[in-house]
Amino acid sequence: MKVALFGAEGKVGAALEPVLARAGHEVKGIEIGDAPDVRGLDACVDFTTPEAAPENVRAALEQGVSCVVGTTGWDPQPLHGLAEERGLRLFVAPNFSIGAVLMMRFAAEAAAFFPRAEIVELHNEAKKDAPSGTARATAELIGGDPAIHSVRLPGLVAHQEVIFGSEGQLLTIRHDTTARESFADGVLLALEKLDTLPPGLTVGLEAILSA
Ligand code: NAP
Repeated sequence: MKVALFGAEGKVGAALEPVLARAGHEVKGIEIGDAPDVRGLDACVDFTTPEAAPENVRAALEQGVSCVVGTTGWDPQPLHGLAEERGLRLFVAPNFSIGAVLMMRFAAEAAAFFPRAEIVELHNEAKKDAPSGTARATAELIGGDPAIHSVRLPGLVAHQEVIFGSEGQLLTIRHDTTARESFADGVLLALEKLDTLPPGLTVGLEAILSA
């Protein structure tokens, strides 16, 4: 596929670009200040900032190009209508790591037996939003409005634990992303499945893992 990569020089973008190229995609990197000219491409991938992503996605959809978005901390819902009316796909996932999606799935299973839980999410200090999109999605999935604790420190990549507590026992479900290449498998899968999704907004890797 011919793919535009918004944020190609960012931490995730720089890890993603060679993986996309090795998988056979032709990648056009778009950085801040570049015109968002994506006409004629097959898809756009966005790993930028919560401020930039809505504008990038709107520009791509207006040029007739479907989008795969990893940027967190923004609400894609207002762009559902534009994607749907143009017969395009807007796929957004708070976490493209398959291990993290399984961590969320196992946490949802545990929540049926442990009503009390708290979430600790730990990310590199450069991450701009808190709590993370994954932590918010996990909280929604397990229900009961669990407290979310956000840690931002150098040395961290992306980590999350869901701690369930009851009398006399603790259950901790933890996932660690140790390198940003971990997000590439999910992005490749999203590009592969993009055309099979209904027009409009689809949220979450789980939607395509089970499709
Ligand atoms: P980052 O290192 O700050 O990279 C963001 C990049 O986007 C920077 O190169 C930035 O350029 C560029 N940018 C800013 N505005 C732009 C625009 N209008 N058009 C094109 N590029 C623009 O951040 P990151 O760690 O790669 O993370 C990027 C986003 O992905 C964050 O929202 C993060 O939370 C999210 N994320 C999601 C997942 C997932 O699995 N869903 C995984 C990891 C990260 P400048 O540096 O020049 O501003």
